Amino acid sequence: MALEDWHTHNEMCHHAVGSIEDYLRQAIKSKLQAIGLSDHFPYEFLKNIERIPFEEYAITLPEIEDYLSTAEKLKEKFKTNINVRIGFEVEYFKNQALALNKHLNKIKNRLDYILGSIHILNFRDGRGAWGFDDSRFRKDFEHYGPQQVYINYYKKLQKMIKSEDFDFDIVGHLDLPKKFNDNPTNKEEIFHEIKKTLELIKAKDKAIEVNTGGFRKPCKEQYPSEKIIKEMYSLDIPILLGSDAHKPKDIGYKFKKILKIIKKIGYNQLAHFDKRKRNFIEI
Ligand SMILES: [Zn+2]
Ligand SMILES: [Zn+2]
Repeated sequence: MALEDWHTHNEMCHHAVGSIEDYLRQAIKSKLQAIGLSDHFPYEFLKNIERIPFEEYAITLPEIEDYLSTAEKLKEKFKTNINVRIGFEVEYFKNQALALNKHLNKIKNRLDYILGSIHILNFRDGRGAWGFDDSRFRKDFEHYGPQQVYINYYKKLQKMIKSEDFDFDIVGHLDLPKKFNDNPTNKEEIFHEIKKTLELIKAKDKAIEVNTGGFRKPCKEQYPSEKIIKEMYSLDIPILLGSDAHKPKDIGYKFKKILKIIKKIGYNQLAHFDKRKRNFIEI
């Protein structure tokens, strides 16, 4: 069966290892039908990110051209072996879409897809923005507690989905706050927010990534959980797979296992993007 991996990083983002070509070669070796390149879009133009070590989180603005032209050359070079799709994983910051779009709009016509993700929260209590999935910010996570972190995260995700200025195709790692196994005290309240989030995704006709990177983290399961995927299926929300590879051998990580899970839930097709147009492949 032909599978596709839509969430991969590489050495250009300053925290993953391996060149784009290394990832492509691994994807071909793993007999994938497509590989999506989704490096982290730059952060340095954003405000209120004093505490964020953004130079380790993403490529920089001057590096965008190198990322795109390298990817485009490799896409051509390997076109008989694999479909290379070029994208970005873009962070949503409230009220900063104009700054983002100033840079993103220049290169958007060269992208096949955009992953919209949230890794950073800002509670506006003076502590400043922090990365809830970064182990260096565990003190902040403990300070607010899981319930507040989850609530704040889903509220922000809802804003992202509703935003008229934030352009994206796929929601990345939907239940990321569970990464370090922090459980909310009131699960019903959180699930209510999750359902609200899914309904917005459905209304906007966006897709959701089923991300196997979670299997490599303390939570030891994919993002999102089976319970959430079932809810997504009942709403008929399109999905695709991503390994969140940060080294070449993560490509297609646990795809066989996840395929069983999503098929059991009922999914029999996965989304595919080409120049921002969505199609489906059968599984
Ligand atoms: Zn990364
Ligand atoms: Zn991410």
